[in-house]
Amino acid sequence: KKYKKGMEKTRHSFSGKINDLVARYRKVDEDFFEELEEVLIGADVGVNTVMDLVEELKMEVKRQNIKDSSEIKGVISEKLVDIYYGNDDEDVEKLHLQDEGLSVILVVGVNGVGKTTSIGKLAHQLQQQGKTVMLAAGDTFRAGAIEQLDIWGERAGVDVIKQSEGSDPAAVIFDGIKSAKSRNADVLICDTAGRLQNKVNLMNELAKVKRVIEREVPGAPHEVLLTLDATTGQNALSQAKTFSEATDVSGIVLTKLDGTAKGGIVLAIRKELDIPVKFVGLGENVEDLEHFDAHAFVYGLFA
Ligand code: GDP
Repeated sequence: KKYKKGMEKTRHSFSGKINDLVARYRKVDEDFFEELEEVLIGADVGVNTVMDLVEELKMEVKRQNIKDSSEIKGVISEKLVDIYYGNDDEDVEKLHLQDEGLSVILVVGVNGVGKTTSIGKLAHQLQQQGKTVMLAAGDTFRAGAIEQLDIWGERAGVDVIKQSEGSDPAAVIFDGIKSAKSRNADVLICDTAGRLQNKVNLMNELAKVKRVIEREVPGAPHEVLLTLDATTGQNALSQAKTFSEATDVSGIVLTKLDGTAKGGIVLAIRKELDIPVKFVGLGENVEDLEHFDAHAFVYGLFA
């Protein structure tokens, strides 16, 4: 079952607390809701989301005339999913690639969040789906980044287009596109440098890379994925804000969800930033990347 592995910390912490709450409160009253708020905020669900949720819950409790606290678990998960999707349909979580021709995915994010690992996992996953995948080593800034991407390319069994450290990322990605086209590849995943210290540099570099991609492949980049580390909580949110100011982010890869009990950050990210989480990282192995699905995620929390 989805999220069985990798979500234990959040699940234990979250469902443990909810069960405890339900056991202590027979009746659903103000105190119950107050404690529920604390549990949800403690799981990093995000204050705004929690406020919306509790308001909805109170109305629903009235509407359905729920008195017994044991009945409310189902309603909480239902409402969490509703709030998560808002007016969007569930299609937003999908990776939007072309059926024909080359699709380009640009991957951005700060160093250390799991960007390289996620690229490797994604390459593997797409390769498993029968696509021909190639990588472009566009992080020419960080020492070791190219070698590390190479290792992941080998693991996933895909080719890596690279130049030497310090070379122009846009040139590397241009090369990547040329090679991907000549080899009839389906997907080119482009790594980028993750400098946040200098926002103007970051913006310029991403803009330049994007211009090359747009010029060489009409309609591309098909996805701009931002990698965020779930264990950094609110810090991940502020990184997301900076990156979405620097470029149009189409989706988020939330890594290291296995390393936190505060998996509620997934819901907060969507609510606060209005960017869909498309993948979650649930471990260090090449297989440990899951397509995000809020339904399965939320229901998994209560399982
Ligand atoms: P980058 O600097 O952003 O490219 O980060 P890396 O891909 O090198 O990852 C940094 C560290 O995080 C490595 O030790 C990875 O094994 C680890 N890592 C990445 N994704 C995950 C994940 O989903 N779960 C866990 N537990 N570790 C991860």
